Amino acid sequence: MLATVDALLPLSLLEAVRNVDTPNDQFDTEYVDELRNKRLGLSDTIYAQIKRHTEAARRGHRTASDEAIALAKLIGRRPDSEAVFRAAGDYMARQSYRTISPVTRKLMRLMPSAMARPLAFRHARKIAARYLGGNVRRVGSFLLLEVPRSITLGTAPGAIGCTYYESAIKQLLRLLIGSIGAVEHVRCSGRGEGSCEWRADWRSFDRTAGLD
Ligand SMILES: [Zn+2]
Repeated sequence: MLATVDALLPLSLLEAVRNVDTPNDQFDTEYVDELRNKRLGLSDTIYAQIKRHTEAARRGHRTASDEAIALAKLIGRRPDSEAVFRAAGDYMARQSYRTISPVTRKLMRLMPSAMARPLAFRHARKIAARYLGGNVRRVGSFLLLEVPRSITLGTAPGAIGCTYYESAIKQLLRLLIGSIGAVEHVRCSGRGEGSCEWRADWRSFDRTAGLD
């Protein structure tokens, strides 16, 4: 069977490239045409790909993993690859969080922690499985995300590619439970440890301090 990923994954990589490469001041804008040729994120190819993957993501389609890996490799060659991977993970978290109904999102913030946590955990698990190809489980006061087949692994020097998943789970937990705790990359496929795994705090936070 052909390995696939949700279309939101390649879309998150493309959107991050576009965001990082978009000129953010007037001076830059005058040179956009010139920049277009130099910067990957502003090329017509990227725009066309964003359009295609946006449509696919809206329809809930999946993309061949190889295509997503090819995009990650392009990012991995950039000197600012870590910033782009982090931006992409952040985008992935925000977009996947928005697939939860607005009522449920509100409930998770308003309900007492003891009721909100199991609900948040179920959504974290569902989102990780569908969008990141990962397994989420709880161990004590920690939440663990395991990604058996990382798309970004080895696409940049060291474990830079892994920052994509780290950024995604960090932002997702901030949105779900207001977590501002650390996320640690405890196991890495790149070090021959089988699969990549991240450990995040799942303790009770004062949510009024975390989110509002
Ligand atoms: Zn890793």
